[in-house]
Amino acid sequence: MSNLNAFAAEKLAGLEAKRLRRTLIDTAREDGIWMIRGGRRLLSFSCNDYLNLTQHPAIQEAAIAAIRTHGVGAGASRLVTGNHPLFAQLETRLAALKGTEAACVFGSGYLANLGIISTLMGRNDLLLVDELSHSCIMAGAALSGGKLLSFRHNDTGHAAQLLKEHRGLHRHAMIATDGVFSMDGDLAPLNALAALCREFDAWLLSDDAHGIGVVGGGRGSTFVGGHRAEVPLQMGTLSKAIGSYGGYLCASQAVIDLIKTRARTFIYSTALPPASAAAAIAAIDLIAGDPEYAATPLRKAKAFTARLNLPEAMSPIVPIILGDTDQTLKASNMLADEGFLVAAIRPPTVPSGTSRLRLTFTVGHPDREIERLAAIIGERLLGSRT
Ligand SMILES: *Cc1c(COP(=O)(O)O)cnc(C)c1O
Repeated sequence: MSNLNAFAAEKLAGLEAKRLRRTLIDTAREDGIWMIRGGRRLLSFSCNDYLNLTQHPAIQEAAIAAIRTHGVGAGASRLVTGNHPLFAQLETRLAALKGTEAACVFGSGYLANLGIISTLMGRNDLLLVDELSHSCIMAGAALSGGKLLSFRHNDTGHAAQLLKEHRGLHRHAMIATDGVFSMDGDLAPLNALAALCREFDAWLLSDDAHGIGVVGGGRGSTFVGGHRAEVPLQMGTLSKAIGSYGGYLCASQAVIDLIKTRARTFIYSTALPPASAAAAIAAIDLIAGDPEYAATPLRKAKAFTARLNLPEAMSPIVPIILGDTDQTLKASNMLADEGFLVAAIRPPTVPSGTSRLRLTFTVGHPDREIERLAAIIGERLLGSRT
């Protein structure tokens, strides 16, 4: 045991020396935007609760009603006895929102990518992944045992070159990418990637964790620009704009049937609790019925980037890249002193040398507070740029 503890302590000391150790801080969420942390009340620009639906009264009521009817936990995996009737309703709504034949709900977005990628891809297959894709795409690719190559961020020319060199050596090929990049807020060139998939006989997977509910009229990044990109595998999470918990895949009936039969994170993990499914159903109904509400976070993010002459926001996520890790932590502390919770994002979440403040805008952020935040960031952190 002492060796194990010594190993852990030494690892931690090494991370501490590089300012890369992470610690949990109790954060009580008062509503969609205000938090209590360390005895201070802070306005959060760090939650992924873009539509503030985690605290929406009608959605809370839907979750409470589901607990009363179906209980707290699902009791088993979906293939055993955990498939409570709310799943069929939720999957029907997801498929309708995404315009696919069918959908499959998983325990989380992370579990979804692990299960989807490792079911569809195997040892003889080729996976091309945008270098900034989320950790769970990388983990799913590794679990599949296939050949993993990453292409430079949003560089379809590089992806084409890799396909030319490697496609012929493999049975199947997949291109996987975030639809909205979680730490940069930019969008993947889904139409260009779909064209590459047609040319090289590959399957396209987009991870819309930060797109569903907030871009493309609430339908996600495959619908930006009013026309639907040809993406046969649209996955995402129910834990960000949807305000609940769980992951999903929207795809053809055949693919969904295969996933439900073979994806190990679907088969061997307990089904999502009824309350989470009920909350997601209520949230999707709200989003589908009110595209103006869904468009509000992006509108607020655009007002912020315009105010500071930053590149125009493409999603509710806006990075302020400071580079140095220490300086980024100091900036985050300075903003906390001003009453704002803005998380510092460090490696390995982002490439080294690109530590940043990551701001997220939500429906409930008061415009005057956005203006005050912009003024402080402009004066004290961006100086020359404004
Ligand atoms: C958050 C996130 C996930 C994981 O979703 P969870 O439901 O939180 O597990 C997957 N992909 C991306 C791009 C994410 O940002």
